[in-house]
Amino acid sequence: MERMQQIVGRARAAFNSGRSRPLGFRIQQLKALERMVQEKEKEILAALKADLKKSGPDAYSHELLGVLRELVRAMEELPSWAAAQPVKKDMLTIRDEAYIHYEPLGVVLVIGTWNYPFLLVLQPLIGAIAAGNAVVVKPSEVSENTARLVAELLPQYLDKDLYAVITGGVPETTELLTQRFDHILYTGSPAVGKIVMAAAAKHLTPVTLEMGGKSPCYIDRDCDLAVACRRITWGKYMNCGQTCIAPDYILCHPSIQGKVVENIKATLKEFYGDDVKSSPDYGRIINQRHFKRILGLLEGQKIALGGETDEASCFIAPTILTDVSPEAKVMEEEIFGPVLPIVTVMSVEEAIEFINFREKPLALYVFSNNKKLIKRVIAETSSGGMTANDVIMHCVVPGLPFGGVGHSGMGAYLGRYSFETFSHRRSCLIKDLGWEALNKLRYPPGSMEMMHLAKLFLLRQCNQSRVGQFISALLGAVKAVLAKMLCPQREA
Ligand code: NAD
Repeated sequence: MERMQQIVGRARAAFNSGRSRPLGFRIQQLKALERMVQEKEKEILAALKADLKKSGPDAYSHELLGVLRELVRAMEELPSWAAAQPVKKDMLTIRDEAYIHYEPLGVVLVIGTWNYPFLLVLQPLIGAIAAGNAVVVKPSEVSENTARLVAELLPQYLDKDLYAVITGGVPETTELLTQRFDHILYTGSPAVGKIVMAAAAKHLTPVTLEMGGKSPCYIDRDCDLAVACRRITWGKYMNCGQTCIAPDYILCHPSIQGKVVENIKATLKEFYGDDVKSSPDYGRIINQRHFKRILGLLEGQKIALGGETDEASCFIAPTILTDVSPEAKVMEEEIFGPVLPIVTVMSVEEAIEFINFREKPLALYVFSNNKKLIKRVIAETSSGGMTANDVIMHCVVPGLPFGGVGHSGMGAYLGRYSFETFSHRRSCLIKDLGWEALNKLRYPPGSMEMMHLAKLFLLRQCNQSRVGQFISALLGAVKAVLAKMLCPQREA
């Protein structure tokens, strides 16, 4: 406990020194992070391989590229994100300066998870640094190699007091959560999200919760199935299905279910060859606990493809389940593994009803040639984000926020949204000390003439049809102001 207190205390003292605030300093720290990723690329890739058997191009594009892109964006755009944002004024404030000033929150806690263990702590860290905060990072103990490396590398490149790393599991995180932070960004399961939120509530600390859920994928009959299934296969089986926005299950008409299985089967061969197990592009389940959990979901199900497993190496082949009942166990919880159930529905209405009956997912996918149908699904459902005619890709569009809704999360981040998440939007109004006569409008004693004038100023800018009204209210008000100025005691 003392150690945690010391680390958080040091971060707070460093924040209070003011050195994290100048934009030049923030950009310098982001540059140092960029240097770290470039110089330590081999070590980072080795840790990812040891944790998740992620290798080569996939590991690089899924984790390092995402971090480097976020860094470039933050360094380029920080001056415009951080600039004062003038706001629209009304007649009463027309002479004043009114703007939003972005200020850092203080000491931010980032709690990461294990499926993209480097990306998911580095991306929030970039946003928190860009916004001028001190940061405590807690990587997931489940991906222990990456956690150890992050703890070793960050102090070599960044200000050691402002940016600290704490490693460890549930006991350490529980202790850490007793400390006071100014914001917590947590990525992980909804069950732990509730624990984080309850701990944060004790200090009235705001939270961003990045959680998961069962992301549905509806395939319309009017659709190029070969293309749809190639894209779905890519998003579902990357990182061995352990992606928070992977399509969790498919909804489609019974008449195309067999073709979906055939197309995915053909794509798997194209992607991973005849022996998936020996493909360098196919990952492994993180540990035995998750391996057993996923196997449990297969019990009693019709396996149309895959199903091969190897406990020693935590291998589960890409698997498809057909004619899955909505009540099956595999349809209760997020699968987070390479198992794809297909539930058949007779229409898009039934698909929408099916989706809306469940918790709001992190992502939603729809494949169709019919734009109207796509727009209808968007209008009649809810999810953190969505992509039509592809999967995953909405999270790489630079201008889009990333986050959940309902049980899949609250708040959002990435790019400008990270900067905003880790900043306070301070409302600023700067007036001068002149023009005191105008203020008589709001000072006592009140008068109805003044009120009429205030109404015209505040409720609507004067338009032509109201000019007459405006002039007579103005004359009434001028009379009242003069009366007040000349004989204040008479009105009192
Ligand atoms: P996990 O076990 O790594 O836990 C996440 C973090 O919470 C870890 O740092 C861990 O130390 C901490 N933690 C775990 N139990 C705790 C407890 N009882 N008290 C305090 N802290 C605790 O990860 P997980 O929960 O298995 O994560 C998987 C989930 O994360 C999935 O639901 C997935 O969809 C979701 N996820 C979401 C996103 C996103 O960006 N929205 C990204 C990746 C994963």
